[in-house]
Amino acid sequence: MDGSNGSSAQHWLTLARHTPLGILCDLDGTLVPFARTPEEARPDAGALELVNTLAALPGVTMAIVSGRPKSWLEAFFPSPHVFLVAEHGAARRGMGAWENIGKIDPAPLEELAARLERLAERHPGALVERKQTTVALHYRQVQRGMRGELLVEAYGIIDKFVAKNPSFERLEGVLVAEIRPTSVKKSSAVPWVRELAGANTRLLALGDDVTDEHMFRVLGANDEAIVVRTTERRRTAARWELDDSNEVRAVLRWLQGVRAGQTPLPVVLPRPLNRRAPENVTPSRDLLVVSNRLPEFRPIDGDDGERRRNVGGLVSALEPALRSRGGMWLGWSGKTVSSSEPVTTGVVNEAGDTSSSVQLAWVDYTESWYQDYYSGFCNGTLWPLFHSFPSRVEMSDAGWAAYREVHEAFADLAAPHTSSRATIWAHDYHLLLFAHVMRQRGHAGPMGHFLHIPFPSLDIFSMLPWAAQLVDAMLDYDLIGFHTPQHVTNFAACAAALLPAKVSDDVIKHRGRETHIAALPIGIIPDAFQEPPEPAVVEEVDALMRTLGDAKLVLGVDRLDYTKGIPERLTAFGRMLEMFPEWRGKVSLVQISVPSRADVPLYAEQRATIESIVGRLNGEFGEAAWVPVRYLYRSYGKEQLSQLYRAAAVGYVTPLRDGMNLVAKEYVAAQDPEDPGVLMLSQFAGAAVEMQDAVLTNPYYIDGMARDLDRSLRMRLDERKTRHAKLLATVERSNAVTWAESFLDALAACR
Ligand code: UDP
Repeated sequence: MDGSNGSSAQHWLTLARHTPLGILCDLDGTLVPFARTPEEARPDAGALELVNTLAALPGVTMAIVSGRPKSWLEAFFPSPHVFLVAEHGAARRGMGAWENIGKIDPAPLEELAARLERLAERHPGALVERKQTTVALHYRQVQRGMRGELLVEAYGIIDKFVAKNPSFERLEGVLVAEIRPTSVKKSSAVPWVRELAGANTRLLALGDDVTDEHMFRVLGANDEAIVVRTTERRRTAARWELDDSNEVRAVLRWLQGVRAGQTPLPVVLPRPLNRRAPENVTPSRDLLVVSNRLPEFRPIDGDDGERRRNVGGLVSALEPALRSRGGMWLGWSGKTVSSSEPVTTGVVNEAGDTSSSVQLAWVDYTESWYQDYYSGFCNGTLWPLFHSFPSRVEMSDAGWAAYREVHEAFADLAAPHTSSRATIWAHDYHLLLFAHVMRQRGHAGPMGHFLHIPFPSLDIFSMLPWAAQLVDAMLDYDLIGFHTPQHVTNFAACAAALLPAKVSDDVIKHRGRETHIAALPIGIIPDAFQEPPEPAVVEEVDALMRTLGDAKLVLGVDRLDYTKGIPERLTAFGRMLEMFPEWRGKVSLVQISVPSRADVPLYAEQRATIESIVGRLNGEFGEAAWVPVRYLYRSYGKEQLSQLYRAAAVGYVTPLRDGMNLVAKEYVAAQDPEDPGVLMLSQFAGAAVEMQDAVLTNPYYIDGMARDLDRSLRMRLDERKTRHAKLLATVERSNAVTWAESFLDALAACR
């Protein structure tokens, strides 16, 4: 048994002999091992005897501090010598009677509990526990691979509830999410026990859960906390650790022996945790996600603190993994500071305090980084090159230097928050060198990268003067994920041609390392596009639809980017009106173009081109009662988009090149299965690999696109239904959560 070195043993002997001594002990996961269900986890005779004996010792105040309800605790601990704290502090029993702490109206929890119960019915193993002032969703028994889906839905329900009922909060326990009054915390037990025990008390608190951290945090300098590591490691305010309830019992038995005047040899002693000295450094996280931009829920500069969640995006996909592993997300704040100012970094969690398990860390960019790294190397060099637009590529030494410099800044930011064994998942073309800079700093844990844009063929990629250096650095990752098998093949071909590497279909061996490469196409959260709309959303979309009259809707939705092929799409629409004049007055194209990189001249030019084509088409074909093209230079929320997708007879998704294209998947998810629209999809979008039942089209071939659009508009209901059913099955099967899980599983399997 380790930990029994001289100084630790002396330290514990002094504490064990101190009078008065107060012990605050959690039950589940601490004194009592976890079982499959909360009902099955009960203190056995050994645990009960230990607690009762400790409570009876002179000079010892023994308190059980639990999340369990009063009646449950009372049934096991009838002796008034054992002090009880129930439901995380909502009620407590000192000498004799129970008292309730604070005024809590549990009524709003009824509906929440009912909703969670309905959800649990659909997820085998999920269990809702209803207590007097809290509701807990246990997912210990839900299969590992199925937890993500349950949690995405559960968090949706819970977060809405918490937003409406701010006197409640969600707390992540060990494989349980609990909704409880914000005013109630286990921390209230600490001054209570101290007072009951008397002047000059030293306290010993033991617990395994985040709720126990509330206790640990308010302990005094002479008190001690022991964290029990039954699950993954997470940050803790405790200074000592034990492995499980057997060790907890061994320590308490030893303490009991010491106080009974014996001098038993300790079988096990709490092990000291290596603590980082500075107070303001956040302890290590098990999973670090790094992307250029932080998720939208960041409550930092300029933000009103409101939780804004990007339902369809990366956040939803990664949130379950981040939460269950105590993860941190690191990225750019979105703020640019003048070069003379210091670059500020910071850490906060999504709620803006220290209670939640997903933390955000950020870095500001200097103006020159924004210019040379973000606008320059990322969006001026890599973006067009990787999308196979070599004529739009701009290159400079300053860009490459800034690219490397910003990676160092990200690594500086990551270092204090990451143990050298943590799993790191970096995203996209902004962070191709991240593994390399982290390995140089000694990072030994698994590192994966997912590229959200295409990877080009060798002839295009080798235009980059730093092509070999870039691929070489990327091979410090253990896993690189791409959207399509073609991107994987392209990357392998570049490694084979540019480096002395040993390349096979799925592994590249280089410098004594192995990098796995795989096609792991990203998905969406289909449910987010299937929810019934709010009346205000219906009204907004209806108003737009009324402007089209009886015309069928053809819908284009993109960021305004030259890769999206918007001018070609508009031109093909005009060509269709020429080739098939019978559609005039009967079809309108609504093109939503979300403003993007508007400060870059290339994008401003693209906008002007689009606007002039729209003007030309409406001038040429428009009639008093019919506008052929409605062009909307703005963005919409998911709710509005869902309704527009559903109203559209054709989802007109024709990028010249796209890594995946999520709009294609969202369009399918939003359709009415009994009367679905037709997805017309560019053969050069990554989505086309999985979505072969779309009407695939070549966006460079205007006449062909015009004919494909005509065919899509004419398609009969039975064919539409058959195609849609197959597409929907794909979108639902390969969704955002399964994507994140597959990636992390594949990364873990690399080692
Ligand atoms: N989107 C949005 N509001 C809009 C238009 C688009 O939220 O008005 C979202 C859309 O739902 C999709 C994303 O923007 O999730 C675009 O993703 P995609 O893969 O199609 O293209 P990207 O912009 O990433 O190249």
